[in-house]
Amino acid sequence: MREDVDERIDLLGSLPFMGMHLACLLTIWTGASLIALFVCLALYGIRMFGITAGYHRYFSHRSYKTSRSFQFVLGWLGAMAAQKGPLWWASHHRSHHRYSDTADDVHSPSVGGFWWSHVGWFLCRKYNETEDSLIRDLTSYPELKLLNRFYVLPPVVLAVFLLALGRFIQIVAPGAHTSAGQMLVWGFFISTVLVYHGTFVVNSLAHIFGRRRFPTKDDSRNNLLIALITFGEGWHNNHHYAPSSERHGFYWWEIDVSHYILKALSWFGLVWDLKDDHGRKAGQGVYIWKVLFTFDSGKQEVQYTRTGVMRRFGWQAP
Ligand SMILES: [Zn+2]
Ligand SMILES: [Zn+2]
Repeated sequence: MREDVDERIDLLGSLPFMGMHLACLLTIWTGASLIALFVCLALYGIRMFGITAGYHRYFSHRSYKTSRSFQFVLGWLGAMAAQKGPLWWASHHRSHHRYSDTADDVHSPSVGGFWWSHVGWFLCRKYNETEDSLIRDLTSYPELKLLNRFYVLPPVVLAVFLLALGRFIQIVAPGAHTSAGQMLVWGFFISTVLVYHGTFVVNSLAHIFGRRRFPTKDDSRNNLLIALITFGEGWHNNHHYAPSSERHGFYWWEIDVSHYILKALSWFGLVWDLKDDHGRKAGQGVYIWKVLFTFDSGKQEVQYTRTGVMRRFGWQAP
């Protein structure tokens, strides 16, 4: 656990986050319905896309290009997930890549432990502010700065919309057995908590469990389960190896839903210049044969790459 006074959990500031979790229990009174479950899943998908394709692949890494208006749409979708503003998110994420798994990393499980990397860092006062020096390319857009400042607006608008939607369905289709309260609980509280922890496992578990294809300096892993729930972010070792690549799943079997959606959006001209660095970068590291040689002093892993270049990866204790 971290000793630093600055890194203590900000209890007052964390009340909305705690409240969001507690509010899920309201389902005991509101009950559930098929339509409420559907809205919960749909809003999980829309907002997970806002976080991964918007906050992460666009604002943090600029791994593709888009228009100024669609850039704002991506920012709004991400902000609906109640994970603060796009500039705040991008500045801390860029810092994570700069200092991955060192003492200066904002959320490293190897340094601060699982809970710190999962939620602790998100709830402490130290990281409340947006670090402008890391996001100079984004601060020139006044609409983004506004969205970053009033980040509570998109989630509040969503909650109000869900209340109205629930009431509307209750009136026009009483057979759907839903209500304003039920729609708020499932579409907003439960769905938001799912997006929270879906996103947070990338910071925590994707640096602990999974395979390491590339010997990056950090502890990032490739993990299929995390990739499925986060629309492709689970190919985290790939991502730390080629952070500017829009595509995180390097092979057809590495399911990367955000990439599929962005690719489809590019056919309609909504996004373009999708950077696909994996071909160039991964070509040097992907092996066809892996041979483990044993020497007197230890083992050395030798990987033969697609291009025929042999790479040697670190000595391991015998
Ligand atoms: Zn990482
Ligand atoms: Zn990243």
